[in-house]
Amino acid sequence: MDFKLTQEQEMIRNMARDFTERNIKPVAAQYDEEKQFPYQNLKKMAEKGLMGMNIPVEYGGSEVGPVACSLAITEIAKGCASHAVTTSVTNMVAELIYEFGQEEIKRKHLPKICSGEYPAGAFALTEPHTGSDAANIRMTAIHRDNTYTLNGTKAMITSGEASGVTVAWAITDRNARKGKGISAFVIEKGTPGLIVGKTEEKMGHRASLNNELIFDHCVIPRNCLLGKEGEGFKIAMIELNGGRIGIGSLAVGVGFAAIDFATTYVIERQAFGKPLSSFEAIQWMIADSYTELEAAQLLVLRAALLKETRQPFTKEASMAKLFATETARKVAIRSIQMLGGYGYMKDYPVERYLRDVIGTTLYEGTSEVQRIVISREILKR
Ligand SMILES: Cc1cc2nc3c(=O)[nH]c(=O)nc-3n(C[C@H](O)[C@H](O)[C@H](O)COP(=O)(O)OP(=O)(O)OC[C@H]3O[C@@H](n4cnc5c(N)ncnc54)[C@H](O)[C@@H]3O)c2cc1C
Repeated sequence: MDFKLTQEQEMIRNMARDFTERNIKPVAAQYDEEKQFPYQNLKKMAEKGLMGMNIPVEYGGSEVGPVACSLAITEIAKGCASHAVTTSVTNMVAELIYEFGQEEIKRKHLPKICSGEYPAGAFALTEPHTGSDAANIRMTAIHRDNTYTLNGTKAMITSGEASGVTVAWAITDRNARKGKGISAFVIEKGTPGLIVGKTEEKMGHRASLNNELIFDHCVIPRNCLLGKEGEGFKIAMIELNGGRIGIGSLAVGVGFAAIDFATTYVIERQAFGKPLSSFEAIQWMIADSYTELEAAQLLVLRAALLKETRQPFTKEASMAKLFATETARKVAIRSIQMLGGYGYMKDYPVERYLRDVIGTTLYEGTSEVQRIVISREILKR
């Protein structure tokens, strides 16, 4: 067993760390306050290869692999969870198109995602009436001649408004068993009938966008189908496994940002004539937080390595997401405790870290859904 990163993985991590220090950290609080989507930074990140990390060079990607991708997302999240979630979802959309798209669709969209010509990609599965029970979607796609006509509404879609390309799921066979009649489609921004609905107001991830997307007689060419008809639900579940590594990586980054800040604070802040860091109660919070976060990162990197070496990783990705997001949430709460009343104030970033990290236990499968996946995989034996 080897815990050593390759030279390339270290290089990607350091590049992402450096970019975050220079470009993301200085604007994160302001973007959060003003709900500003980071168009400029995303473009620069794409130019550094951060938007097609698992896409071959011939389609414009940097193909650095899932481990480097995880490390990069963790570094970005140390600066801003909104930048990180946009990066993670965009990489996931690129992978979806690469894995399941027809050649002309790959050639059309992948270079634009990877180069940042598209500010982001969107993954549109959730509908207003259903999230966890994703096989229960109602959006329809009617096949006629060489087209599909999409009708339905998607909810809470990350980067919905900003994305150059959206992958959306719809029912193509109403008579099929639950989950079997769903297909996945690629829809380009500006396609008539694709309407951006309301922008969600959120407690965290405020510099990322979440939109309702309305498909109203939206006609797309037949070659926009991903995989085969009826395979859409399977495709979503396969891709969400990879996405969960991204969100676990993100949570680890936010958790480290919180405890790093709180640790510096308790070294400087005095109470009862001593630095806060000299009290055992505080020292234990530091010890527990770093131990748990490092354990979370190991789980995340194990899942990433399994993906990289093309081994099954469904259970491991869910374990990594579950543990990393719940650990980071716990660490963010502890970090606020370490700052006392100031932890609750907007003068310091720890309250933002908590608001951001709560979201990670909800999207790409709630913690409850991860537990369902993990137990199902174990009981399958
Ligand atoms: C910041 C953010 C970004 C998002 N981005 C996207 C995106 O880009 N694309 C997209 O498609 N969706 C996105 N979503 C939606 C997200 O995936 C859903 O909110 C999530 O899947 C949960 O679905 P729901 O909100 O409908 O909750 P519900 O499914 O209604 O669940 C409500 C509660 O019940 C629990 N529950 C449900 N079923 C069970 C069960 N069988 N056993 C035990 N407990 C259960 C859930 O865990 C949860 O606690 C985003 C959400 C957020 C908050």
